[in-house]
Amino acid sequence: MIDSLSFPSRPWPTLDAGSVWLAGAGPGDVGLLTLHALNALNQADVIVHDALVHAEILALAQPTAELINVGKRGGQSATQSDINQLLITLATSGKRVLRLKGGDPFVFGRGSEEASALFDQNIPFRIIPGISAGIGGLAYAGIPVTHRDINHSVTFVTGHDLKTPDWAAIAKGAVIIVIYMGLRNMGEIARLMITAGRDMDEPVAIVCAASTHEQTVLETTLSEAANDIKRANPKAPAVICIGPAVELRAKLTWFK
Ligand code: SAH
Repeated sequence: MIDSLSFPSRPWPTLDAGSVWLAGAGPGDVGLLTLHALNALNQADVIVHDALVHAEILALAQPTAELINVGKRGGQSATQSDINQLLITLATSGKRVLRLKGGDPFVFGRGSEEASALFDQNIPFRIIPGISAGIGGLAYAGIPVTHRDINHSVTFVTGHDLKTPDWAAIAKGAVIIVIYMGLRNMGEIARLMITAGRDMDEPVAIVCAASTHEQTVLETTLSEAANDIKRANPKAPAVICIGPAVELRAKLTWFK
């Protein structure tokens, strides 16, 4: 498939034996793969992927490619150092290795840790950015992360841990807040936002499985978020947007 597409002036890069490409697969919709990621899928002997990478994307691999799921939802979850070591072992044995992650590999994806481990072993690597859930996934819910009349900056934050980010500073410093890995803690995060001075009625959107056929969007407010999450029980993966950009969904919802 990739062969029928040509770069303006040069051939597609070659995934050489003994090297690793670290690629983002986007949030789910196969159409959000980059051409570089498709080129990688066309060449890899082995694909080390996360649970978040959609089956339809893995189906684009060469039929002979070995697929290794190291994702947390794939039963046994591998530690980061196990994954680093696996990539090193596969590359050292002469494989053409594709490390495929959901979204963008450098956005809450630990891609930089894996690339550093490869650097330390003199293993050649390439980074293939992807469409991150916090931008492209929200676009599939009709939410723009910037809008000229609303915000001049946007904060991307992990909601995995309630202690590490300074939630009060985030509440005060950003009009639009995009939270990854925040579903479990969202009730408490909303409470911290209100305590830090955000309006109780401020809109919140919880977008699950963005860009896939299973996409759902729960619209709520900071004061109602905890109750609505209990009632509707949205499922991970979910990306959450806090701020008035959520109201634009009234006009910008397009994906059904
Ligand atoms: N590298 C990824 C993020 C990995 S962290 C990226 O750039 O998108 C995992 C978190 O990403 C999930 O907990 C969720 O918050 C978000 N996420 C990834 N894919 C998603 C999807 N299709 N829909 C909603 N959220 C998603």
